[in-house]
Amino acid sequence: MIAKIEQLLQEVAALHASNAEELEALRIKYLSKKGAINDLMADFRNVPAELKKEVGMKLNELKNKAQETISALKEQFECQNNDSEGLDLTRTASAVKLGTRHPLSIVRNEIIDIFARLGFSIAEGPEIEDDWHVFSALNFAEDHPARDMQDTFFIESHPDVVLRTHTSSVQSRVMETSQPPIRIICPGRVYRNEAISYRAHCFFHQVEALYIDKNVSFTDLKQVLLLFAKEMFGADTKIRLRPSYFPFTEPSAEMDISCNICGGKGCPFCKHTGWVEILGCGMVDPNVLDSNGIDSKIYSGYALGMGVERITNLKYQVKDLRMFSENDTRFLKEFEAAY
Ligand SMILES: [Zn+2]
Repeated sequence: MIAKIEQLLQEVAALHASNAEELEALRIKYLSKKGAINDLMADFRNVPAELKKEVGMKLNELKNKAQETISALKEQFECQNNDSEGLDLTRTASAVKLGTRHPLSIVRNEIIDIFARLGFSIAEGPEIEDDWHVFSALNFAEDHPARDMQDTFFIESHPDVVLRTHTSSVQSRVMETSQPPIRIICPGRVYRNEAISYRAHCFFHQVEALYIDKNVSFTDLKQVLLLFAKEMFGADTKIRLRPSYFPFTEPSAEMDISCNICGGKGCPFCKHTGWVEILGCGMVDPNVLDSNGIDSKIYSGYALGMGVERITNLKYQVKDLRMFSENDTRFLKEFEAAY
C-alpha cells in the first residue's frame, strides 16, 4: 500500500492540464468519491495495526498534495481566462482619480497670471529673514509702533532673525540688488504671532507687487488696481480707495471692491455696506527707495499687497481660515473643478 501511495504522490506532483475539461477529469480521477485516493481510504481498514500510523500519514499527505495541486491548476486557468478570453478590450478604462490643487494655490496662480500679463515677473525670498529686510529697509524706525503692531516671531537667541511678517522683505531684497525699471510680484508665506481662530492664523499667504520707474504716479497704481479687481472678480466690479497708513508707502490707501456676493446691495458678508476690503497699497516712500540704493529724486514707484486667504474667502466663501491648513480631503475635493 505504501508503494501505491508513493506512486500516486509522484503522479500528483507531475499533474498537468491544458484546459478545464482535462482538469475536471483529473479531479474525478483522484479526488472524487470513486477516485484513487478514496479507494485507498477504503483499503485503509485492512492495513495491519502496526502500520496504520505510517500509512495514515502518507495517505493524508497524498490527499493534501492532490487537493493543493488541483486547486493551483484551477486558479491558473481562471487567471488565464481573465487575461485573454474574458477580457473586453472595448470597455472604457476605469477613471484615474486626479488630485486637486489647493484653493490657495488656485487663487495665488490666478493673481500671478493677471500681473504676469501686465509684465510683472515673480520674485521670491527667504521666509526666515533678518530685521533689516523685514523692517529697517522698509522705513520701520527702531522704536516704530508697527514693529509691535505686527506681532512678530523672533528667534530668542538671535534677536536679529525673524520669520517674515510680510513679503515686502522680498521687495527690499530686489531693490538693493537691481536698478529700475523694477516690476515684480512676490508671492509667499508669512508669519505672525497670532492666536489661531476661524479668522486669524499664525501663518498665511501674501502676494505683493512693486513697480518702480521714472514718473510712476498714483494714477498708474489706480489703473492697475481697477484692472486687477475686474479680472479677479468680474467686469462689473467697482473699486474705492480709502486713505490709510503703512510705514513703507506715502500716501497709502486701502482698496475695497463692491461686494461680489451681494453685488453691492449689502449682505452679512460685507456687513451690509456693499463693500469689502481686499488690499493695501500706496506710493513707495522715498525713504524706502533711498535706503535700498535707488535715487528717489529720479525714480518713484507703487506697491500693493494682499492676503491670498482673504481673496480666496471672497471667491469661494470659506468661512473658517483653519480649513486651509487642515488637509481635509473632503474640503479640498470641493475645488476639483476650479482649475
Ligand atoms: Zn455683500
